[in-house]
Amino acid sequence: MTIILFGPPGCGKGTQSALIAEKFKLKHISTGDILRAEMDMGTELGLSAKKYVNEGKLVPDDVIIEMLMKAVKSVDAGLNGVLLDGFPRTTAQAEALEEKLASTNNQTNVLIDLKVNDEELVTRMLLRGKTTGRADDNPETIKKRLQVYAEQTYPVKAFYQKLNKYVAVNGLGKIDDIFAQICAEIEKAI
Ligand code: AMP
Repeated sequence: MTIILFGPPGCGKGTQSALIAEKFKLKHISTGDILRAEMDMGTELGLSAKKYVNEGKLVPDDVIIEMLMKAVKSVDAGLNGVLLDGFPRTTAQAEALEEKLASTNNQTNVLIDLKVNDEELVTRMLLRGKTTGRADDNPETIKKRLQVYAEQTYPVKAFYQKLNKYVAVNGLGKIDDIFAQICAEIEKAI
């Protein structure tokens, strides 16, 4: 199984991914979490990614695709597949993923787009910045990340619409209600 949780920064991908991964026994792969861990450890990858992440820009496709392929390779026995959170963020990343899956006669089951308006996204990210100290959750970088989302990531929607794998879920409301809607969409797609 390959499930993609999609949507702008601050839409609740991380929160919902943890719940989905547990329920459907999937490996939760968050490219943002992997990058932050690499940055904390001061690895070569972390150091090269830092300037992009801190400026709210996308890390180059080749770096991210290699990182993702590595993470997808090692799925524990007993799990049903992967839940991708924060990937793909460009059409090139989506193409690389679907090519890789096609090589084993697979395809993403569904991409779920969590819809949240910009005003709410900014409110949530500013709050997260205050409570977690996440460096890119500051007003200037938030603005840049939303712009990058609209310009570089939004086209991924059309890519999955063409494959008939795109569904949208309202990301406003109670966490449990949103989770129930996401579960219903996953059940339909598997
Ligand atoms: P996130 O935690 O998903 O919001 O990601 C935080 C930051 O990591 C992003 O603003 C990007 O700089 C970088 N990043 C995460 N995932 C990707 C990706 N798939 N492609 C490029 N950059 C990424």
